[in-house]
Amino acid sequence: MAGQERVIQYNTIKVRLYPDQKQAELFQKTFGCCRYIWNRMLADHERFYFETDAHFIPTPAKYKNEAPFLKEVDNQALTQEFHRLSQAFRNFFRNPSAFGYPKFKRKKDARNSFSACNHVMGNSATIYITRNAVRMTKAGLVRARFPRRPRSGWRLTRVTVERTKTGKYYGYLLFACPARQPEPVEPVAEGTIGLKYSVSHFYVTDDGLTADPPRWLRRSQEKAAAIQRKLSRLQPGSKNYQELVQKYRLLHEHIANQRRDFLHKESRRIANAWDAVCIRGDDLKAISEELGGSSVRDTGFGMFRELLRYKLERQGKQMLEVDRFTPTTKVCSACGCVNETLDPDARQWLCPVCGTVHDRDVNAAVNIKTQGLELYRMAQTAS
Ligand SMILES: [Zn+2]
Repeated sequence: MAGQERVIQYNTIKVRLYPDQKQAELFQKTFGCCRYIWNRMLADHERFYFETDAHFIPTPAKYKNEAPFLKEVDNQALTQEFHRLSQAFRNFFRNPSAFGYPKFKRKKDARNSFSACNHVMGNSATIYITRNAVRMTKAGLVRARFPRRPRSGWRLTRVTVERTKTGKYYGYLLFACPARQPEPVEPVAEGTIGLKYSVSHFYVTDDGLTADPPRWLRRSQEKAAAIQRKLSRLQPGSKNYQELVQKYRLLHEHIANQRRDFLHKESRRIANAWDAVCIRGDDLKAISEELGGSSVRDTGFGMFRELLRYKLERQGKQMLEVDRFTPTTKVCSACGCVNETLDPDARQWLCPVCGTVHDRDVNAAVNIKTQGLELYRMAQTAS
């Protein structure tokens, strides 16, 4: 019985951390050491490859004698950098166009974060949580605020500490959670929804509904744009300028939180209401570049797709992904003819063959749904 099988799922709880001054200094030092070790390993990999034609990444232990400050931070954090770099190379060799060659990290643009795995031996663990703190290897008990608590049976496997640009600290606690394998849900047309990505409406469904991002998110974005305009008129480095930059960063974090909240709720709503979701595997990065930058990546549609995927999977449901090169916009969903002369800016069009009037996005969403279900059927008969 599929419903009885046990599987491991992973859940993250994000907590706000309140390190004291000494712990904050240690965290800062750890971020720096992680960047340092990453850059050293990457440089040595390059030299080794140049000299011998073979791939090899030295382990962090090798650097400790010449860089004794590395001994001051949690060794686990350095080990994680080694694993991350190895993974980055594996990704690169498997799919160079998608991942790119691993890059050196500069203090200015690198994320301030480090991760450490939990090592459990008998009754002792290197990382654990108390009522109001997270215990870490070198830092000890770091005060924390928990938005929720892990359920019984969840095992803490890793912690990632991050410092935001506005100076707040967060901990991402990763838990391994035993769960039952859900019963697979068969996708049928009535229970399936087709979603078309839309720059202005976030998405449009095959029955013509849209998910416009909420008003408060737009208002924050307008505020951010206003601050940016003001910034451009101020003298960089002046006191007013500095204050406004800090205000902008706080607002920016606020927007990121609002957006994540919206994406979680929206994906939860869809995953609960439908048995299957058809979607196009659009390359959002390419679309964003075509449109000249930020707006698409900012909507978080890529993240929405990933959230939706795992929320469906956990209920035994499927995301049916249509290839991004499949024509969906130009095809008439009523008669199947391809309208090669379709004006790329037209929001509505009339099918020259069958005479149906289409809303551009809704028609595409219908096609995505039809093709998604068709692909599923073909895969079923092939296996
Ligand atoms: Zn037609």
